[in-house]
Amino acid sequence: MSRDAPRHTDFGFRTVPETEKAGHVGAVFSSVAERYDLMNDLMSAGLHRVWKAFAVRICALRPGQRVLDVAGGTGDLARRLADEVMPAGTVVLSDINASMLVRGRDRLLDRGHNIPGVRCDAERLPFVSDYFDCVTIGFGLRNVTRKELALAEMFRVLRPGGRLVVLEFSRVSRPLRPLYDAYSFGVLPVLGRLVVGDAASYRYLAESIRVHPPQAELKSMIETAGFERVEYFNLTAGIAAVHRGFKLG
Ligand code: SAM
Repeated sequence: MSRDAPRHTDFGFRTVPETEKAGHVGAVFSSVAERYDLMNDLMSAGLHRVWKAFAVRICALRPGQRVLDVAGGTGDLARRLADEVMPAGTVVLSDINASMLVRGRDRLLDRGHNIPGVRCDAERLPFVSDYFDCVTIGFGLRNVTRKELALAEMFRVLRPGGRLVVLEFSRVSRPLRPLYDAYSFGVLPVLGRLVVGDAASYRYLAESIRVHPPQAELKSMIETAGFERVEYFNLTAGIAAVHRGFKLG
């Protein structure tokens, strides 16, 4: 193999050159943006709201603090974070995808939150170092090509004492796996086709969950990025998990 051979990564169950993953992921979210929130409610029977509420609770925010929501999409987490820290504090909604970000900004404005939206890649955050009290990423890390770079960036922009909260699909407990697999690969693509007219994006969702690092592996990736006191909380038997780590010193 030549020294310049491209590095490869996962895109669901497919292996693609690293340089192509962001394009594939971009196509998924541009396709689903309009019906993204409706699909979240349908797919999870509203459970994603409970998971998000838990993630925000363990951010343990105080009024006046500064929060960055990475891969914030349509602003579901950002809205809840704003309720904790505003009006004295700041929430920045960021995402790589213009369709998701525009929808997020509109939804937040409709609910009375004028929150800055920044289009950026989690791997290259355009923010100064040591600034935010808290960084969140909800169902976003799975889609990022070089997760270790994104974690390092989130570490950099946090102030010492600040915390990272990662909400992500994870590894479901063993007894539930057959049922969960049947639902993910049987029902989700059909729902995607009926509601969004796009089965492939929801097949990608199911596949990307299976190739995402499970709880303990993600914990050690977060530690490798420099975070301390890292712990995780399983939600709904591990369908999702919240990881939290601190930038100390
Ligand atoms: N956080 C929102 C939520 O919980 O509903 C949106 C989650 S959505 C499943 C994943 C989001 O990650 C999409 O909006 C997508 O555009 C964004 N994303 C994917 N790759 C990204 C990257 N490299 N940098 C920033 N955002 C990214």
